[in-house]
Amino acid sequence: MKSDLSHLNAAQREAVLYLDGPTLVLAGAGSGKTRVITQKIGYLIRDCGYQARGIVALTFTNKAAREMDERVKSMMDPAVTKGVTISTFHSLGVRILREEAAHAGLKQQFSILDSDDALAIVQDLLATTDKGRIRGVQQTISLWKNGLTDPDEAAKLAATPNELEAARVYRSYNATLSAYQAVDFDDLIALPAQIFSLNPEVREKWQARVRYLLVDEYQDTNVCQYRLVQWLTGPRAMFTAVGDDDQAIYAWRGATIENLANLTKDYPAIRVIKLEQNYRSSQRILAAANQVISHNPKLFEKKLWSEHGTGEAISVVGMDDEQTEAESVAMKVSAARFEKQAEWRDFAILYRGNHQARVVEQAMRNLRIPYTVSGGQSFFDKAEVRDILSYLRLIANDADDPAFIRAATTPKRGIGQATLQTLGQYAGMRGISLFEASFEIGLEAKLNQRQLEPLRTFGEFINRIQYRAGKLTVGQAVRPVEAADVLLDDLIQTIDYERYLYDNFDEKPAQSRWQNVLELINWLKRKSEEDHMSLFDLVQHVALITMLERSDDKDPDAVKLSTLHASKGLEYPHVYLLGVEEGLLPHMGREDEDVDAARAADILVERVQEERRLMYVGITRAQRSLHLSWCKKRRRAREDVSRDPSRFIAEMGLSDPTALNQAATESLNPRARLDMLKSLLNKK
Ligand code: ATP
Ligand code: MG
Repeated sequence: MKSDLSHLNAAQREAVLYLDGPTLVLAGAGSGKTRVITQKIGYLIRDCGYQARGIVALTFTNKAAREMDERVKSMMDPAVTKGVTISTFHSLGVRILREEAAHAGLKQQFSILDSDDALAIVQDLLATTDKGRIRGVQQTISLWKNGLTDPDEAAKLAATPNELEAARVYRSYNATLSAYQAVDFDDLIALPAQIFSLNPEVREKWQARVRYLLVDEYQDTNVCQYRLVQWLTGPRAMFTAVGDDDQAIYAWRGATIENLANLTKDYPAIRVIKLEQNYRSSQRILAAANQVISHNPKLFEKKLWSEHGTGEAISVVGMDDEQTEAESVAMKVSAARFEKQAEWRDFAILYRGNHQARVVEQAMRNLRIPYTVSGGQSFFDKAEVRDILSYLRLIANDADDPAFIRAATTPKRGIGQATLQTLGQYAGMRGISLFEASFEIGLEAKLNQRQLEPLRTFGEFINRIQYRAGKLTVGQAVRPVEAADVLLDDLIQTIDYERYLYDNFDEKPAQSRWQNVLELINWLKRKSEEDHMSLFDLVQHVALITMLERSDDKDPDAVKLSTLHASKGLEYPHVYLLGVEEGLLPHMGREDEDVDAARAADILVERVQEERRLMYVGITRAQRSLHLSWCKKRRRAREDVSRDPSRFIAEMGLSDPTALNQAATESLNPRARLDMLKSLLNKK
């Protein structure tokens, strides 16, 4: 059966049909870029005889991947699309790394560290408790990894005192990770890229597998991800990338818009296609979005237009404080749902920072409005959840020392700090994991019986569960002896975690923590049943979603609370954008003490521009109505500070007299690279 391309416009159709070389679709929000990707997947399979398993589509978040998956499934018989890979860069990275672990000096059952564990390692290496410094170093290391800069190069590049410190830590940090048989989030992309670059036979194997690659939100890829795309597609270069430079919002994580220019440079024959019709928003919303983004230097002229009517007026209100703002938005959503005969899921409440979610959640609960939160502090970050997961991680990979320490000491079982220190020294001396060390005869000379016994009991306990779960022996999968759900129940019972909670916390918090544990266990069981996952698969799966976002459950009928970052690519009939204030949106972040005045001014300009793109992303999520609010005062670290409406409100060209707050930084020069980009991107 041939694909029906009649619900695409001419430019979209061109993008779908073009197969003579790489394709780049560059277009504004809501112009159907993602639709091009899903349609092209169908076209490749149905009309061009591509095997489903040869097609890989990459997106940014689990949520986006899931949406795309659903769109593809609804388009054609699931039997036809079965085998298509639709995933995030990071999940694909895990898949590659599991298969090629040996090339990176890893065992197949390596652990994926969450950012807290990674932070703890940096903290250890720095021997400080200064949070700002620890985070600074972690972020610098992360940027290096994302730029494929190894410790040697980093040491050469480092110029400022902060960078020099980070470079020093970087090397030991990597050494620690490999001792733990663990990788961090950034490694999930960097290591596969590295493996491909060093091993021609490995990359050729993958190139033969990936017959066609599609990348959504290309503007937010970093150097590493771009390399991965290049390695995966190889000289055949069969890929389609779609993106919007105006929606680049991850520069702080190392994403680089230069990747757009690099594409046209590395693939001179690339077909660049622009889409101009917006199918998402009313004209008013689109006009406001265009107005705001016109204050940024342009890569190329985009003439987005919409056939939807003028639409509702955009509302802007100044509230007294965030409490009032939250209560008011809850009330408005509730009323609007009634007036418009809409569903809860038609509403989204968006904000700049996670910390804004709490008051909104409270207000939603007060009015009994169902809601879900995404991009927020993760369920998986809760202490009790991390406790249980540390057991699972240890079972899956007993070289995971951070997991060992956490599990061995929670609940307390007579393994004290002194024991752990001796164990750590011994393990370090022998070059083995804490878990392994705990069984060694040599340890008996260092610890007394009272210290040794609980350690051995714990080790044997973990060993038994490993065996029952079907532990991997030298890369060979052994069939699980018992199902994951039985093991999970046993585990929780044996460690007596419920009692531990009630012994250590007041009744109420203990209760709610225990609820979370039950929720986790039930969710794991459901997952293992639905997707036939073993305990090991589960651990891996959890590590990944921990990294990316909270929920991977189906979409219930609920109001969506989300950070602006997490809302990318999605759309909602009615959007409420909170905290549109100077200092919050644009958010200014920490001053960099390390740079001279000229560089500082540059950084400031870039920051405002990135925040403006974030604002553009927010506005363009709305289909029919858009409501902005800002607070006259807001609580910061226990005191109220007075606030002004964001410059972006003025830039939207709305007639709000309170919002005339022009930007002072705008007149500074856009960077020279923009000219280069412009000339490259305007060619066709
Ligand atoms: P974003 O930049 O926000 O990711 P996008 O360019 O990926 O947006 P899509 O999400 O693909 O845009 O499309 C926006 C909306 O317009 C979707 O609801 C989509 O179904 C619809 N749409 C896209 N193309 C067409 C078309 N040719 N005809 C009708 N509706 C369309
Ligand atoms: Mg999209």
